[in-house]
Amino acid sequence: MFEMSSNNTYEAVIGLEVHAQLATKSKLFCADATTFGAAPNTQISPITMGHPGSLPKTNKKAVEYAIKMGLACNSTIVKENYFARKNYFYPDLPKGYQISQHTTPICAGGKVQIQVGDQKRYIQLNRIHLEEDAGKSIHDIDPTHTLIDLNRAGTPLIEIVTEPDLFSAEEAFAYVTEIRKLVQWLGVCDGNMEEGSLRCDANVSVRLKGEKKLGTKVEVKNLNSIRNVKKAIEFEITRMIDVLESGGTITQQTRSFDASNDTTFAIRDKEEANDYRYFPDPDLAPFVLSDAYIHEIQLGLPILPAAVEEKLITQYQLSSYDAAQVCESLQAVQYFEETAIHTKNYKSVANWMLGPIKSYLNEVGLDYKSIALQPATLAALIKCIDEGQLNFSVAASKILPQLVDGKKTDVLAVATELNLLQVNDTDTLEAWVDAAIASMPDKVEEYQKGKKGVIGLFIASVKKISKGQADPSKVSSLLTQKLSK
Ligand code: ADP
Ligand code: MG
Repeated sequence: MFEMSSNNTYEAVIGLEVHAQLATKSKLFCADATTFGAAPNTQISPITMGHPGSLPKTNKKAVEYAIKMGLACNSTIVKENYFARKNYFYPDLPKGYQISQHTTPICAGGKVQIQVGDQKRYIQLNRIHLEEDAGKSIHDIDPTHTLIDLNRAGTPLIEIVTEPDLFSAEEAFAYVTEIRKLVQWLGVCDGNMEEGSLRCDANVSVRLKGEKKLGTKVEVKNLNSIRNVKKAIEFEITRMIDVLESGGTITQQTRSFDASNDTTFAIRDKEEANDYRYFPDPDLAPFVLSDAYIHEIQLGLPILPAAVEEKLITQYQLSSYDAAQVCESLQAVQYFEETAIHTKNYKSVANWMLGPIKSYLNEVGLDYKSIALQPATLAALIKCIDEGQLNFSVAASKILPQLVDGKKTDVLAVATELNLLQVNDTDTLEAWVDAAIASMPDKVEEYQKGKKGVIGLFIASVKKISKGQADPSKVSSLLTQKLSK
């Protein structure tokens, strides 16, 4: 479907709207809990329900989290804010309006760095604003009715809106990956896309290359995985180019993604802009942020991923690839730095973290927040390898599993107990090699007549005699030396 000629003639333009549920304990305007998975309609006070006479109050933590994200994205923090009512009817919107920010998003502009291949580029943000989430309509429990769970209604969200500044599905993938990492890094959202904590709407248009005017866009709603963001955009680009190539015109639409076959389908045509009759919510006083308050939040920000990556490269001499991988989360970076207090072999720390430890964590569904293996233990393991007492693959496959629960910390004791210490003392090795050679005089003769392959038999024999404790590289050089005499 996607012909090369089309690919070269057209250019895709993408703008993303990411909704991130803020990790506050309570809702944006009342004390109702925001716990995911609670029994339906158990977190719904009269305020959440918008009962007459109930009075909403703004959650300070949510405001703080929105500012954190804005500062991390280099946005301008807007000081004078108010909340507006966005009026529309929907069954999962109990009040008949959503409280959102309209003309005063709390963060204006900003940028987020992404990397595709080895190209780094900033994506321009339009704004980040605060708003409340809606409830959930559940269509798949009752065969004839739609059920409504309003627990989610009123949960604080930030909506992070880019300019139409992304140009491929790969860039969109990288961007959402980066946003997810950033909100988790800052601790403002758990980033859990399966639970809907992070959701993305993708606005996609195509235009002839060189054209300045934007094409007509479609908006694909509610993408709930980063993979689906990419798939939906890929599908849309191809579909739109096909329409144009066959002489058609693009209709402005809202579409939905069908994950069962990676396609999208139209939900509604957007003839003209909806009129939401925005007006300032009369129950909520406008709020003004002081410079001192913003400054205080700025001071409390953790060091950001880009700065850490730089530090890992300059201070610990990691390759930029390793540095980027270690920067997967703030906890992984902390783990790296704590291990680096105990060893100078930083490259090994990264190798362990990105190799055997990562495999283990993935396998058991843990991460660096909950890892039990102490940084000092990992450093001790690395030391044993560097000093030739252990070989890496034995350490990874046999010793690491003994250490991961954090109960044992004495690496040498574990290695000794399992009889896995490697012997690289020359006298001992020579004795083992001599014994192996003495046990197979006929094979020695064969070797010396040119059948070099039999060396494998000697290596196996040393392995057996030494109970696997001989440093294999030293053994093979000793064998070659002695057999060639
Ligand atoms: P709407 O009013 O339909 O929500 P906005 O202008 O607020 O539209 O933009 C919403 C998102 O769509 C933003 O991320 C913006 O960058 C993006 N966008 C707007 N126009 C286009 C376009 N023609 N092509 C691709 N993305 C677009
Ligand atoms: Mg929109």
